Amino acid sequence: MKLSDSLADHFRIDTAHKKALLRLNIETVSDLLYHLPARYEDISDVQSVGSLEKNQDTVVYGQLSGLKTRKAWKSKKPIAEGYVEDGSAKMKIMWFNQPYIAKMYTDGMYVKLAGKVSGSEGKLYLSNPEVEPLDSLPIDRHDSIFKDTGSGDDTLYPVYRETKGITSKWIYHTVLKCFEKKILETLIDPIPVEILKKYNLPELKTALVWIHSPKKAKDAESARKRFAFEEVFYIQVQKAQERAAVSAAQTYTIRTSPQHIKEFTDRFEFKLTKSQNKSIEAITKNFVDNHAMSRLLEGDVGSGKTAVAATTAYAVATSRPPEGMDKKIEYGNLQVAYMAPTEILAKQHFESFIEYFQHLPIQIGLITGSGCMKFPSKSDPTKPTKISKAQLTKWIANGEIPIVIGTHSLIYKSVEFKHLAYVIIDEQHRFGTNQRKKLAKKDSRLPHLLSMTATPIPRTLALTIYGDLDITLLEEMPAGRKAVKTTIVGPGQSKEMYDHVRSELEAGRQAYVICPRIEEPDPDKQTALNMKSVIAEAKRLKKDVFQEWNIGVLHGKMTPAEKDKIMNEFNAHKIDILCATSVVEVGVNVPNATNIIIEGAERFGLAQLHQLRGRVIRGTHQPYCFAVTDSKSDKTRDRLKALATAKNGFELAEHDLQFRGGGELYGGKQSGLSDLGMEAIRNLKLVEAARNEARHLVETHPELSKDFPLIAERVARIGEVLHME
Ligand code: ADP
Ligand code: MG
Repeated sequence: MKLSDSLADHFRIDTAHKKALLRLNIETVSDLLYHLPARYEDISDVQSVGSLEKNQDTVVYGQLSGLKTRKAWKSKKPIAEGYVEDGSAKMKIMWFNQPYIAKMYTDGMYVKLAGKVSGSEGKLYLSNPEVEPLDSLPIDRHDSIFKDTGSGDDTLYPVYRETKGITSKWIYHTVLKCFEKKILETLIDPIPVEILKKYNLPELKTALVWIHSPKKAKDAESARKRFAFEEVFYIQVQKAQERAAVSAAQTYTIRTSPQHIKEFTDRFEFKLTKSQNKSIEAITKNFVDNHAMSRLLEGDVGSGKTAVAATTAYAVATSRPPEGMDKKIEYGNLQVAYMAPTEILAKQHFESFIEYFQHLPIQIGLITGSGCMKFPSKSDPTKPTKISKAQLTKWIANGEIPIVIGTHSLIYKSVEFKHLAYVIIDEQHRFGTNQRKKLAKKDSRLPHLLSMTATPIPRTLALTIYGDLDITLLEEMPAGRKAVKTTIVGPGQSKEMYDHVRSELEAGRQAYVICPRIEEPDPDKQTALNMKSVIAEAKRLKKDVFQEWNIGVLHGKMTPAEKDKIMNEFNAHKIDILCATSVVEVGVNVPNATNIIIEGAERFGLAQLHQLRGRVIRGTHQPYCFAVTDSKSDKTRDRLKALATAKNGFELAEHDLQFRGGGELYGGKQSGLSDLGMEAIRNLKLVEAARNEARHLVETHPELSKDFPLIAERVARIGEVLHME
C-alpha cells in the first residue's frame, strides 16, 4: 500500500461509496489519513443498557423502537414512551409531559441518551432522557480498543466529519486497516526533524496513530498541534516564497521628503492621527528600499485610510520616472492605480481624491464597468468630466494621467500604464503577486502594493492569511469623532430603548433594526423560536411600537431592484426605520441614521457587531447602538459588554477568538484553512513559530523543490487552491 494509491485499490468501494468519499475530498490513502477527526468523544462514562441499575444517572447509546404517546392512568397527563436497545439489553424509556418527543424521533434511529434510571427492579426504565440523534452507533462493543483495559488509558474515540453514505465509524475502521497494511512504514516526514524537536512535536507516524486512535487525551492533543503547525507552516512557506519573488523583482524607487509630504497634508482640514503619520512614514520608507513594498493597512471604518492612500499616492504622482529608462524624453510622472471592490466605492474614492488633489496639476481618471471620467474637465477645471474609455486608456498609456481609480476592470480590461509604480487595493481579500504583475503588464518593474481593509480579524489570522505582507494597524480614530454609545438590552428592558429611539426619530433621525432571520422561524426547530425575523419584526414594530413611523424591510432574498428602491427611500428619508438582516449591503451610507438596534446580539461575533454598528457613525450626530439579547447567561452579557469598552474592531476580533474559537471568525471561512488550522489560529506562539521557520527555510533554501521536495509539493498544492478563488 502506498499513500498515492486509490482507496478503491485496497477496499471494496462501490460507485455510490466512491461519490460519497469524493464529497469529503477523499480519493487516495493519503486523503483518508489526512481526514482528521473533528473531535473525540470520551466514552468512559458510557454504560451498556444491560448493566444499568436503579437511580443511576447514565449515558447510553442505542437504537430507538416502539415510540408512541399515551395518557397516564390517573393524571391523564401525556406520556411519550419507547425502547432503547444496544445489543446488551433493551430498556423502556418514558418522557413525562413531553408528548411531542414521540413525533420528533423515529423507530430505528440511533441515539445517545442521557438520563436517570427509575422504576423498580425488573421494571426499570429511563426517565426523561435527553436525546441526541446519531448517524450511527459509534461504539462497537466487540471492538477491543473500546474495552476497558484497566491500564488507566483514556477511553476516547474519534469522531470524523461524515457525509451521506460514509459514517465516522467506517472512516475510523478503514484508517485502522491502513495501519494494519503497514502504511505507516512507508511514510517520510516532510517536516525537518530539527523543527519537530525544537517545538516538541511528534513525528508523522506517531502523530497519525495518536490523532486517529489515541490512548491518551494528551497524545491526541499533541498530534493535533503537530498537524496544525504543519498546515500553518506550509501556508507560511508559500507566503515566504511570494515575498521572496517580490523582493527579487525590480521596482521603482520613490524618493520623497517630509517637507514634500507636509506641503500636501498641511492643506487637510484636520490634523493626522499618530497612526496615520506612522503609516505614511512606514510606506514612504518602503518606497526608497530596493524591494517592492507589500503592506496591509488595517483600520476601522472612518479611521482615515483614504487620507493615507492619498498622501502616499501624492508622493508617487509627483515623482519622475528613473532617468535613462527610456531614451525618449519622458512625459509624465510615476503612476498610481487605486482599486475598489464596487463601483459605488470607486466613485466615492474618485470624489475624495478630487478633494485632496484639486489644487494640484495632477489628473485623475476613473474606470468602471459603466463608464469613464477624468478630473479636471478642460472646460471647467473645478469639475470632473465624462470621457470615452479609448481616450482615457490612451492618456494612461502615455503617462499623462498619473492617478487611476477603478474597479476590478482595471486588471481585466485592456488598461496599460506607462510607469505603474504603486497599487492601492481597498477591501480586496486576496491580491497576489500574479495580479500585481498583470496590472504592471509590459512594465518590467513590480509596483509597490498597499492593501487596505476594515475587516477586523485577529493578529494570528492576519499573520497567516496575509503572511506575505507587512502589517500596519490604524489603532486610533480621528479626534473629536463621536463614539457610538452602546447599550446591552436584556429581557424586559426594551421599553427604555424604544422610548429613546422614538425621541431620536422625533428629532429627525433615522434608525436600523437588524434581525438574524428573514422569515418566520420554523416552529419545529426549537432553537429558532427566539430569533426575530425581519418580516415579522417589521410588522410587530409597526403594530405595537412605532405606529406613526414608516418602516421598510431589506434582506438578501430581495432582487437588486427591490433593494435599490428601499435603499433610495431610506436615503431620501421616506423611510424612518429600516428593518434588515445582517447583510446590509456594503456602501450603505446614510449619515442621518444614527440608531441601530441589533436583535439576537448574542448570535453575532463581537467583530461583526462592531461592523454593524459602524453604519451609524457616518454623521455628525451622536450615534447609538442597542445590542438586544434574551440570554440570561452572565458569560454572554460579559462578552457583549466588551463592545462598550474595546478600542477598535481588531481588539474585538481577538475577544471573539478567545470566546468563540476560530470557526466563528469573520474572514476565517475565506482563508482556506481547515478546521484544525482555524484551531491553530488561537495559538499566537504556534503561528509565529511556523512563520519564522518558514521564512528561515525559504531564505536558506532558495531551491526548495530540490532540497525539500515533499514540502515544495505540499506548498504547490496550497498555491493552486488559493489562486483558484
Ligand atoms: P476609512 O477609509 O478608513 O473608512 P476615510 O479615509 O474615508 O476612512 O475617512 C473618514 C472621514 O474622516 C473622511 O471624511 C476624512 O476626511 C476624515 N478624516 C480622515 N483622517 C482624519 C483625521 N486625522 N482627523 C479628522 N478627520 C479625518
Ligand atoms: Mg475607506
